[in-house]
Amino acid sequence: TLPVVALVGRPNVGKSTIFNRIISQRLSIVEDTPGVTRDRIYAHGEWLGKEFSLIDTGGITLNDQNLNQEITSQAEIAIDEADVVVMVTDARVGVTNEDEVVAKILFRSHKPVILAVNKADNLQQRQDIYDFYALGLGEPYAVSGVHGTGMGDLLDALINQL
Ligand code: GDP
Ligand code: MG
Repeated sequence: TLPVVALVGRPNVGKSTIFNRIISQRLSIVEDTPGVTRDRIYAHGEWLGKEFSLIDTGGITLNDQNLNQEITSQAEIAIDEADVVVMVTDARVGVTNEDEVVAKILFRSHKPVILAVNKADNLQQRQDIYDFYALGLGEPYAVSGVHGTGMGDLLDALINQL
């Protein structure tokens, strides 16, 4: 069985965008009821010949949970299921309380974590990610899920942990 990589992070940081970028195909979304879309959660990823299963925990929603409970549950699912966790944050927003909640859970798990700082779309934003060291998860990797920049370095770091 393939090693498992899980994407975690609060809503809207770009997990699904990075998920689609890593598996390098536009995925069909499943429409259950009008106006409701469900993201694909599992896919097959590969980088430099190393294969892995990728989980977008943001697509896992549990009923009757508030935002903090939901983020916490997703992080716990990632820790249980994954060999490596990719925590996604937003360069344009900076470090938030929810990021700190997620980072603390991941830190305590002792799982390998790669820290992605997404939406670093330009040079200024790529250079301005050092606040993210405060999450205690090691080196932050500046990426742009939309443009694809930084993905190579992120994936190199990721497969080094598999
Ligand atoms: P998720 O909730 O974490 O899965 O986030 P999504 O992947 O759905 O992205 C949330 C929003 O951020 C969407 O409008 C994306 O187009 C946007 N987004 C994602 N990645 C980037 C990026 O690298 N740069 C910019 N500017 N926007 C992005
Ligand atoms: Mg999503």
